[in-house]
Amino acid sequence: MAAPCRVLFSRCQRSRKIANQHAAQRLKSIVCPSSARLFSSESTKNKQHQYDLVIVGGGIVGMATAQELIIRHPDLKLAVVEKENELAAHQSGHNSGVVHAGIYYAPGSLKAKLCVKGLDMAYKYCDEHEIPYKKCGKLIVAVDPDEVSRLEGLLERGQKNGVKDLRMVGPDEIKDIEPNCVGLKAIHSPHTGIIDWGLVTKYYGKEFEKRGGTIYTNFEVTKFDIAAESSEEGGSSGLNHPVVIEGKSQENPSLSCRHVVTCGGLHSDKLAEKSGCDPVPRIVPFRGEYLLLSPEKEDLVRGNIYPVPDPRFPFLGVHFTPRMDGSVWLGPNAVLAFKREGYGYTQISLPDLADALSFRGLRKLAYKHLSYGLMEMYKGIYIRAQVKQLQRFVPSLRPEDVSRGPAGVRAQALDREGTLVDDFVFDAGTGDLGQRILHVRNAPSPAATSSLAIAEMVADRVEQQFSL
Ligand SMILES: Cc1cc2nc3c(=O)[nH]c(=O)nc-3n(C[C@H](O)[C@H](O)[C@H](O)COP(=O)(O)OP(=O)(O)OC[C@H]3O[C@@H](n4cnc5c(N)ncnc54)[C@H](O)[C@@H]3O)c2cc1C
Repeated sequence: MAAPCRVLFSRCQRSRKIANQHAAQRLKSIVCPSSARLFSSESTKNKQHQYDLVIVGGGIVGMATAQELIIRHPDLKLAVVEKENELAAHQSGHNSGVVHAGIYYAPGSLKAKLCVKGLDMAYKYCDEHEIPYKKCGKLIVAVDPDEVSRLEGLLERGQKNGVKDLRMVGPDEIKDIEPNCVGLKAIHSPHTGIIDWGLVTKYYGKEFEKRGGTIYTNFEVTKFDIAAESSEEGGSSGLNHPVVIEGKSQENPSLSCRHVVTCGGLHSDKLAEKSGCDPVPRIVPFRGEYLLLSPEKEDLVRGNIYPVPDPRFPFLGVHFTPRMDGSVWLGPNAVLAFKREGYGYTQISLPDLADALSFRGLRKLAYKHLSYGLMEMYKGIYIRAQVKQLQRFVPSLRPEDVSRGPAGVRAQALDREGTLVDDFVFDAGTGDLGQRILHVRNAPSPAATSSLAIAEMVADRVEQQFSL
């Protein structure tokens, strides 16, 4: 399967600048249909289902971690299990597709360090693997006088974080960079880019398989257990692979291994509970809905245009984002999803909804930010309200220029007090199982940009915890 991709990307490398328009279409036709074959369970059918380490979750964090571990430990037998029929089926394949520079995050925080490092690592990886991206830059625009001081604070933050070549620009330069954009002042970040993170995840997967790793798709983990000594491995070797991972997969109903790492995104809390961890921090799913600019208006923006974020929320606010296929997405808002992987209002899971609504943390959050939440829902339902927000930056945008677009669901970790958990959370569990399992319970956004740096951090932790 590797050969056609290589031909495709060597062409892209020659003309990276024009890759954005045509790449997504060509990638769709070459990579997406074959993804099931790339990660086909056919190739794994006859293998023995015993591993040194199994990673649960085929999103960008799980796949980056799997790739990092197999590079560091080529002699270990590693596998990834993913419940969907392809990699990157959820957050990693449903996001804004921005390569973030690391401006927003508190200086010295892990989030800031991993994002700044992750951006460099991502561009380097993409160059080496001939994955198309575009450094189209970004403006964070203040349109109200009271946003200007927050913008100045943001510039200082970004510079402290080591974000390269950030600078403040005035109204004339805003116009030079984005002719249809207005603002009092803006931060220009030239190294912010766009990319297809779902495709990047599939590359991590390809690299993992190339180095001997195995990927099981359609394998939903239902239970972790410790095998009895009398397991079929027999005798003392029965202790070699004591962790049993049970799944819904008909082909491979269970695997056994020595150690497990879970990177379950929207289900990370549920996976952690399966080894005896506290159910909190709980994952609450927030859907982000995008509008789509009509094709004849796509030249309205050249790069990313973002508002000055409201510091009370983890969401960056609705923004203009060009995509690798040439389309332009506007959004996302943030509304409670009625299902953990509910991409539309009609996708409802009563257990998921009951789970979220019965959680004290969510009720406290809703109480604190009721008007914000209702406004987000209103904007989700009435396109004109969302457009009004966006017209602050691009006044020539009209409601008739947009239509409803795709959506993504964010795994927002919440504590019991309704505080949004903004940091990485690792967990293990209880008993023998807890000794052999590492849960990545919260890998906060922008975990796609930071994925390679996060993977190094998780791999360090795995080596330390499991004495690899
Ligand atoms: C709307 C939106 C916009 C965003 N924009 C950006 C952006 O522009 N730039 C950026 O850097 N980041 C962005 N992010 C954040 C980024 O997409 C996520 O942080 C990142 O994709 C998280 O990756 P993950 O691997 O942790 O989770 P996921 O991609 O959700 O992967 C988790 C995987 O685990 C699997 N899984 C769960 N439970 C089980 C089970 N029991 N058995 C087997 N498999 C299981 C799931 O099927 C899933 O594939 C955005 C996120 C959203 C939602």
